[in-house]
Amino acid sequence: MAVTWQIATVVSIRRETATARTIVLRIPTWRGHIAGQHLDVRLTADDGYTAVRSYSIASSYDAATSDAHDVELTIEQIEDGEVSPYLVTHLSVGDSVEVRGPIGGWFVWRPQQTEPIQLIAGGSGIAPIMAMVRASTALVAEGAIAPLRLLYSVRSPATAIFAEELRGLDARNLVEVTMVYTRGGPEGWPRRIGRVDAADIVVACWPPDASPTCYVCGPTAFVESAAGLLVEAGHLPDLIRTERFGSV
Ligand SMILES: Cc1cc2nc3c(=O)[nH]c(=O)nc-3n(C[C@H](O)[C@H](O)[C@H](O)COP(=O)(O)OP(=O)(O)OC[C@H]3O[C@@H](n4cnc5c(N)ncnc54)[C@H](O)[C@@H]3O)c2cc1C
Repeated sequence: MAVTWQIATVVSIRRETATARTIVLRIPTWRGHIAGQHLDVRLTADDGYTAVRSYSIASSYDAATSDAHDVELTIEQIEDGEVSPYLVTHLSVGDSVEVRGPIGGWFVWRPQQTEPIQLIAGGSGIAPIMAMVRASTALVAEGAIAPLRLLYSVRSPATAIFAEELRGLDARNLVEVTMVYTRGGPEGWPRRIGRVDAADIVVACWPPDASPTCYVCGPTAFVESAAGLLVEAGHLPDLIRTERFGSV
């Protein structure tokens, strides 16, 4: 798809957590995307004022399916934000928005990549990471799965997006998931509560000698901290790809 503005229609909406929801957009001209890419969304007010924000595509693409023209965005509402509260609380099925994409060629996972993959997500940074998980695990039937590990940091169990889907994939040994809770864990949680630290990287991630490609996504400070911990643990900077979502 050329990167020009297109009209997308909201065809369904799923609530993920109290503050996040997935919006399924139908884009008739959609020709597919690579896991990890994003879209720009443009909103225009009645007075002509426009606001543009980027949102990662959380769904994987399969041209053979009937929903090949549908793209899923998973959006976390930022308090006092200009655009995300509208997308999370006001946008309804049948509404239209302008979108431009797919965009991005570095923070992507391609099916040809069979090396170990280390995924690290903070909060809504799980969106493009989930596209990678879904794209990779969809290939299981063809025996072409890349070994995936995911370190997912959230404030509490209630704020974990895609928690059930991830538990199911973990139970089937399709992705090894380690959760990190920064404010409070589930009842009886045996691990430390707090931000991702060096010990989490050693315990939950592929070791540097497995040469995993690492994908780190989330709020800027989270990404910088996690990428720094990977380098300190011995991972090569060239194998670390990052996507920063915002200033906090
Ligand atoms: C490539 C890319 C992909 C993205 N994908 C997603 C996605 O899949 N899902 C998603 O929910 N967001 C995603 N974002 C973030 C998104 O583009 C917006 O920045 C976010 O929704 C906030 O927009 P807003 O208009 O509500 O807030 P704004 O009015 O722009 O900002 C309000 C306040 O919130 C702060 N802020 C902005 N963004 C964040 C953030 N992410 N976390 C914490 N504080 C923030 C700002 O510094 C400001 O102080 C992505 C960003 C990029 C660059």
